[in-house]
Amino acid sequence: MAAEFPILIADDDPVTRKLLERTLTKRGYRVTVVDDGRKAFERFQEEFFPLVVSDWMMPGMDGLEICKAIRGVETEGYVFIILLTSRDNREDIVRGLEAGADDYLTKPFNPAELAARINTGIRILELERSLKKANDEIRVLSITDQLTGCYNRVYMVERMEPEIKRAKRYRHWLSVIMCDLDHFKQVNDTHGHQAGDMVLKGFAEIINRSIRDKVDWAVRYGGEEFIIILPETDLEGAAVVAERLRRSAAEARYTAEGTSFHVTASFGVTGLNEKTPWEKLSIDTIIQHADTLLYAAKDAGRDRVHLDQL
Ligand SMILES: [Mg+2]
Repeated sequence: MAAEFPILIADDDPVTRKLLERTLTKRGYRVTVVDDGRKAFERFQEEFFPLVVSDWMMPGMDGLEICKAIRGVETEGYVFIILLTSRDNREDIVRGLEAGADDYLTKPFNPAELAARINTGIRILELERSLKKANDEIRVLSITDQLTGCYNRVYMVERMEPEIKRAKRYRHWLSVIMCDLDHFKQVNDTHGHQAGDMVLKGFAEIINRSIRDKVDWAVRYGGEEFIIILPETDLEGAAVVAERLRRSAAEARYTAEGTSFHVTASFGVTGLNEKTPWEKLSIDTIIQHADTLLYAAKDAGRDRVHLDQL
């Protein structure tokens, strides 16, 4: 467990440095040792250290400056900083804590006390990690459709704006596929809601298998309606994806209470590129256009793809 939290040690005094290194390595910590403040901060910027033990008085940068510098940069997690000082008057300690130190230790230090202070730091770091994990899980839940695992509308609204901006800035294509399962109500009416859910999950799997991982993304937009966003994909490329989805959907077979059935889907595909009048563009106009195309595909007999550039 100790090795999960690498420690950066900075001290200009070789004897203290050795003692720090020995005390902590003996207890299983991974340590990196430097002999001045500037090197410490340089090293810190190269690699993330959740624990820093720094001397106060050092050439280059002193302990206070290191604290301020570390607090001033963005880090991937919290950094627990312990200042080593021979000063123990109250005012100095306050200055150290104000500069961003979490704790301090007066020199000459007691190895057992140092280890205890490091343990306090680790408890805080572990708490921070578990909070972060819980937050990440909540975040995933808040943007995911529970049944299908696709993104939900909350996420779509949030992500669409930057996607449009990026496409506009780099003059990239951005394509949108809107799809809807045909006669879905009949599935629920004939085979029951569980069968309906099975079909929704099955269709979402077909979509997620057919799109590029981490580039394209799929949203469950409504009951049986899905939207797929394909960045840097032109209209023809998006139409190929839609056609592949259409075929896969039509070929998929489901079974409910011994009866086999299939469900087709209809698709509206639109895209924007440098010819698009960007000024008038919004998420709503894009969705609306894809929706119009989708309904044209429905009117034309379903199980088909309609496309048109925006
Ligand atoms: Mg010193």
